[in-house]
Amino acid sequence: MQLTNRSKVVSNKEMTAAEAAYIPAVLKGMAVTLKHFFKRPATVKYPEEQREFSEVYRGKHVLKRDENGAERCTACGLCAVACPAEAITMVADERKKGEEKLYREEKYAAIYEINMLRCIFCGLCEEACPKEAIFLTKEITPSNYEREDFIYGKDKLVEGIEPSLRIDVSKRQDR
Ligand code: SF4
Ligand code: SF4
Repeated sequence: MQLTNRSKVVSNKEMTAAEAAYIPAVLKGMAVTLKHFFKRPATVKYPEEQREFSEVYRGKHVLKRDENGAERCTACGLCAVACPAEAITMVADERKKGEEKLYREEKYAAIYEINMLRCIFCGLCEEACPKEAIFLTKEITPSNYEREDFIYGKDKLVEGIEPSLRIDVSKRQDR
């Protein structure tokens, strides 16, 4: 049975001296290398050079603050339930008197962690969140040597309080 059109009938004819020394095969290989030598490379010199991301690219998550700088997340757990990779864990706590400026709702996430080794960047956590607290950004999750370094806590996820450190997610909100 013929599986592909590229199959060849095996010939039992004696090899010439040149063929036995692999000369035609080496020349053929060098011709292929030379052909690609003058072509535009298909790769880029990452991280110095970066390709333009697609409009729908989903990268590292951000936990948003509201316009007054308070954390939006209320530790409802819906993102964790929606996550197909079970990458999100959190511990909720109750907001105390005087912490209104820190946390928007009466309950907040004292611990919020995403395991980036599990995450498949599907964006379902973003879809599930009723508080517009979590979004995926265009930022790449950098490579690392230790597995623990891929567990992103609030220190890496919550955006900065200064206006210059805020992450614009308006385009994702529009969609
Ligand atoms: S992007 Fe998907 S896999 Fe990653 S944390 Fe969110 S829901 Fe889970
Ligand atoms: S990020 Fe959103 S869905 Fe997840 S716990 Fe916080 S408020 Fe709930």
